[in-house]
Amino acid sequence: MSTPLFDRIALIGIGLIGSSIARDVKELGLAGEVVISTRSAETLKRAEELALGTHYVSSAADAVKDADLVIVSVPVGASEAVARQIAGSLKAGAIVTDVGSTKASVIAQMAPHMPEGVHFIPGHPLAGTEKSGPDAGFVGLFRDRWCIFTPLPDTDQAALDTLKSFWMALGSRIDEMDPQHHDKVLAIVSHLPHIIAYNIVGTADDLETVTDAEVIKYSASGFRDFTRLAASDPTMWRDVCLHNKDAILEMLARFSEDLAYLQRAIRWGEGDKLFELFTRTRAIRRSIVQAGQDVDAPDFGRHSLDAKK
Ligand code: NAP
Repeated sequence: MSTPLFDRIALIGIGLIGSSIARDVKELGLAGEVVISTRSAETLKRAEELALGTHYVSSAADAVKDADLVIVSVPVGASEAVARQIAGSLKAGAIVTDVGSTKASVIAQMAPHMPEGVHFIPGHPLAGTEKSGPDAGFVGLFRDRWCIFTPLPDTDQAALDTLKSFWMALGSRIDEMDPQHHDKVLAIVSHLPHIIAYNIVGTADDLETVTDAEVIKYSASGFRDFTRLAASDPTMWRDVCLHNKDAILEMLARFSEDLAYLQRAIRWGEGDKLFELFTRTRAIRRSIVQAGQDVDAPDFGRHSLDAKK
């Protein structure tokens, strides 16, 4: 147990990310009180059944009253509505942060509503799974994962340091960048891979010459790894696509060009070009494992399948 960093934390949104934060805060004793608010009565009830907080309220405005730290964990397209709801009830000196996967759009939606004297510090923990809802969260989701802050030009350094201490207590590694750069980096490392996965799984589903039953039966040969990404929350990913439009379209244009190069190399039997690319990409995988961002297990997922047998 740590010493509480905050007397009262308000969590607005209690899905995968919000409930993982709640579980860590409870486990580590990081707050005196944790007030939870979410849009639907069912999710709020579930959060209470799971004992994720100390207080449960249906109104976001009521939840943030007297909170020292407010963490908004809702789909990015809902950021402005939440900012409007909480703005009038925030305590002077409170820190308001978010966990949204896009940053420029969240800032544009939330910053104009934040009152004078409240520290709004946008953030994004690079941690998650394809699951959603309060049952999907778990202790340790953020351990050894990056949390990127995109502070505004007038962000108070002491408030930023306090927020960093909170995320470091959850085990995160901390970085800072400007919001536009964040959105470009995330477009290539996260958004494009999800879009490609949604596309390939959609293509397989539409094929007429290969049956759905065959796609499922033989999925372990590559397709299965795309289906995990393509099972991600449709609301969250719709919002990411709509709210990081420019960076995603830029990366998609690059991707299409490079795909055409690959297509041409296959058509003309240019094995050396294929071999060179596949060698380069293998080295990237090795660097990711070396950086501790994945394990070198031969086939992630198959172990848990074996355990079920
Ligand atoms: P989630 O499990 O689907 O939970 C979403 C939460 O937001 C629920 O409490 C839900 O409330 C609430 N919500 C949904 N639509 C809303 C709306 N229109 N207005 C107000 N509240 C709404 O989502 P999550 O995975 O925790 O994602 C939350 C945020 O974290 C997103 O911005 C996402 O971009 C970001 N993020 C996600 C991941 C990931 O891998 N999942 C990783 C990093 C960051 P009800 O259930 O009560 O309707």
